[in-house]
Amino acid sequence: MFSYRHAFHAGNHADVLKHAILVQILDYFNRKDAPYWVIDTHAGAGLYALDGEWAGQSGEVVDGLDRLLGAPRPPELVERYLRAIQDFNPDGVASRYPGSPALALHALRPHDKLRLFELHPTEIEVLESTLRQLGTSRRQVSIAREDGFGGLKRLLPPPTRRGIVLIDPSYEDKQDYRHTLQAVRDGLERFASGCFAVWYPLVQRVQAHEMARALERLPVEWLHATLTVRKPSADGLGLHGSGMFVINPPWTLHEELRAALPWLEKTLAQDEHARHTLQTHAAAGSPAGASPA
Ligand code: SAM
Repeated sequence: MFSYRHAFHAGNHADVLKHAILVQILDYFNRKDAPYWVIDTHAGAGLYALDGEWAGQSGEVVDGLDRLLGAPRPPELVERYLRAIQDFNPDGVASRYPGSPALALHALRPHDKLRLFELHPTEIEVLESTLRQLGTSRRQVSIAREDGFGGLKRLLPPPTRRGIVLIDPSYEDKQDYRHTLQAVRDGLERFASGCFAVWYPLVQRVQAHEMARALERLPVEWLHATLTVRKPSADGLGLHGSGMFVINPPWTLHEELRAALPWLEKTLAQDEHARHTLQTHAAAGSPAGASPA
């Protein structure tokens, strides 16, 4: 598991989908003054230098964020995401890419809290130093060098009873699919009204397909968006698409994605196989469009 470094992938098409949705959810939670928690079970390094050694070597940002910059008429979901990225790059050059912890911190008000889990010894060091640079307080943000799947159980439900849980493993270990599904099931038992966002790669692995179908069978309100940017390669290497599965999504997310996904598909397409999907499900007995508190 310690071979994965998110810096290789920072700002790629999958980060665009994941982080644009995350920023939308955070924005929605900020519409009410009541405090909330963000729990990020797989935090990564927090902030990435796009001209740095790691991101520079792979250049995945070129076919991700870079294509959005300057593209005409970005929809609201994309505009909000780009504004957040801009705030980390005040000189106008996209040289820093904020990962999920930085994006969460950017949105959080003083009375909200962020709980992070990260296992990689180097990533956690970078994350700690990033958070110091961003001037966070220990009362607001905590980082645990601990398995995020296990640690999540301890934190649910958050005392505020309002919360966003991001589950974003690398899935290099195929057990991550099983652990993610179990974490969602356990999480919903403890915190049924929580907003759970699961990112996953579209890969030719039976586990990925099975996890997505099992999530769709959950008797809760959910939204499922996928974005494919090209034909899968014959050797199965590289990432041709990804999905975000959001339980108890903000009611505004579906409309925003309906406008944004065709634009993202067009802007990020690498060949004629680019496509997107968007599905929603209302829980039995709950009005369609019910949102997290
Ligand atoms: N959420 C981050 C973002 O959006 O910016 C990216 C996270 S990256 C895809 C996955 C991270 O999870 C890696 O940094 C990896 O070291 C870490 N990791 C792997 N297994 C873990 C586990 N069981 N618990 C916590 N972190 C883990």
